[in-house]
Amino acid sequence: MSTPNYPFRLNQDQSRRKFIYNFTKVAGVAALMASPVISHADSFFAAPVTVGEVMDMFISQVPGAPISNTVDTLKAGSRDIQVTGIVTTMFATIEVIRKTIALGANFIIAHEPTFYNHQDETAWLANDDVYRYKAELLKQHNIAVWRNHDYIHSINPDGVRMGLLKQLDWEGYYNPAATSVMMLPATTLSSLIGHLKQKLFIDKVRYIGDPKQNCQKILLMPGASGGTRQIQAMSKEKPDALICGEIQEWETAEYVRDAQAKGEKLSLIVLGHIASEEPGSEFMATWLKEKLPGIKITHIPSNNSLSFL
Ligand SMILES: [Zn+2]
Repeated sequence: MSTPNYPFRLNQDQSRRKFIYNFTKVAGVAALMASPVISHADSFFAAPVTVGEVMDMFISQVPGAPISNTVDTLKAGSRDIQVTGIVTTMFATIEVIRKTIALGANFIIAHEPTFYNHQDETAWLANDDVYRYKAELLKQHNIAVWRNHDYIHSINPDGVRMGLLKQLDWEGYYNPAATSVMMLPATTLSSLIGHLKQKLFIDKVRYIGDPKQNCQKILLMPGASGGTRQIQAMSKEKPDALICGEIQEWETAEYVRDAQAKGEKLSLIVLGHIASEEPGSEFMATWLKEKLPGIKITHIPSNNSLSFL
């Protein structure tokens, strides 16, 4: 075996206030375990760390990692930047970047793209003033941005889903055998919407259905799964309601409207993409705080981009 590329720095002096880390999943584990310095599984990693080390730390926990063709790449900065503080968020908006600078942090872990398309391709934006301002802001302050999308959804259980369930006080309804389906105590559609708005700090939601309709079997699909996946899941599971982040209006909403016209009891609640997945960034912040007690970790919600009148 070649020399291990140590994923993180180890601080033996502080081993009493260590955190437990599962070495068995860390790359280079055999070499690490053979080292006389690290002979047990409860050593820990402390500051300073680099951007690359933090990325590897999370990725090492994901079954089947590394993922090929992932969109989870660095959008700004480099792996060798020494981390002064980490911000987790849904979107590395210009506002979030400014707040990161004000905090003295230099590593943003965002769930969604930085540059307005899934692959974060930037050639088409080369002459765009908004893109150039944002890219320059990141460069000037030497800030790294890592998208953690595929990995946080692939950790088991899905970190975004668990963050959302925690915020909704629905952790007890999670079923590992059918992760999107939940059996809630019977409630009305109107009460269900009220709960979602209150727990997720949403001012208004869009919905289809009779507010008095009984809702018990829920299909919960945060984010933007796409019309085909949403419709296939409804077709298979026959839920009382689909709760999702984002829809294509001309796909999912039209299916639900037709299902209702046919006489089926199927409702739709559209939370908004950001509201439905921002709890995943809270999950990420909590995860990092446990693993990196010496680093300041802050969750900055990117909040909804759209307003309602
Ligand atoms: Zn997502």
